[in-house]
Amino acid sequence: MHIVLILLSLLLVCGLALWLLFRFHPAFGPHALGHYHSERFHSPNYRDGQFRNEHPTPQFTGERSSGAAAMWRFLTDRTNQRVPKTPVPIVRTDIRQVVQSYRDSILSADAGPVNDLFIWFGHSSYLFTLGGQTVLVDPVLRMEFPASLMMKPFPGTEYYTPEMMPEIDLLVITHEHWDHLDYATLRDLRGKVKQVVCPLGIADYLRYWGYAPDIITEMDWFDQSPFTNHQSSITNHQSPITCLPTRHFSNRLLGGANRTLWASFLLDCNGKKVYIGGDGGYDDRFRRIHDTYGEIDLAVMENGQYNTNWAYIHMLPEDLEQAMLDLQAKQYITVHHDKFSLAPHAWTEPDSVAQSIAARDRLTLLDRPIGTVIRW
Ligand SMILES: [Zn+2]
Ligand SMILES: [Zn+2]
Repeated sequence: MHIVLILLSLLLVCGLALWLLFRFHPAFGPHALGHYHSERFHSPNYRDGQFRNEHPTPQFTGERSSGAAAMWRFLTDRTNQRVPKTPVPIVRTDIRQVVQSYRDSILSADAGPVNDLFIWFGHSSYLFTLGGQTVLVDPVLRMEFPASLMMKPFPGTEYYTPEMMPEIDLLVITHEHWDHLDYATLRDLRGKVKQVVCPLGIADYLRYWGYAPDIITEMDWFDQSPFTNHQSSITNHQSPITCLPTRHFSNRLLGGANRTLWASFLLDCNGKKVYIGGDGGYDDRFRRIHDTYGEIDLAVMENGQYNTNWAYIHMLPEDLEQAMLDLQAKQYITVHHDKFSLAPHAWTEPDSVAQSIAARDRLTLLDRPIGTVIRW
């Protein structure tokens, strides 16, 4: 009888500790405490207590009636080389030095046209330059508790840290999933970031984590905002940022499903355009984006963590091919792979998928190992 009581008490204490952790650890954000700002509720995309996709989007698309069985198979399946056995090859680049020499080249009077830079840090974290300014997207460069409980980076891919980043003129966050919005990384980048754009609801996290409200612009689909020129000594340009739809969902354990928006973004600097694809399954948006905004110079596409059991929220390989054909961009880079395993495919599969598509359809693919300086 005593043992039963002791076990019950232990269970109660553990349960209470977990509850306190989930409610009050900053990584879970203010929504775990029920703190929401109200702007999002005026969005036409927020209906009946949730943000909605443009098309009906069931999250589970498998044949089984239960998603739990598919999840169990994913967690226990060790047959498919989901994780590399040896360190992933990466290039060790001095990011600050590379960005500084890019800026010096632009300032140099006799320099001709200067190529912009793109550097990938694995999964969906990347930095690029545009019009003399530095843009950082979905940085997940720390693996502290509790994020480390949910995602373990592949060996070798943890090299890049927030301390290695240069000053960031624009930080872009696409949605609240843990592989895109990381508390520890954003905490450590805070002093370097001059401007942030994010979809509706994400500003709650940033303000909660100490970002000044006046540098954050929260956007709904099809909103436009100026990209403030933080390097006025370098360029004088007109740069609209357009927030665009994706087909996805949001949640963060606590705080409710689809209570914050997911998005892609188009940056246009004097006609040079970059598309930040974010996460999302295939639909007709790629064709519409091409028809509305014209030719895109560089499109960053989601490629990885797909499965037929969740075919509408991440693109399967055949969907990626159709999306690239629809978008008709000049150059492509694919991301969402090579760092975390969040789906049952082999970790090398997305790379092969992208190479095959590019060869078959004669597309310009700039995918390179993590840390490579890509000039575009
Ligand atoms: Zn996601
Ligand atoms: Zn993701």
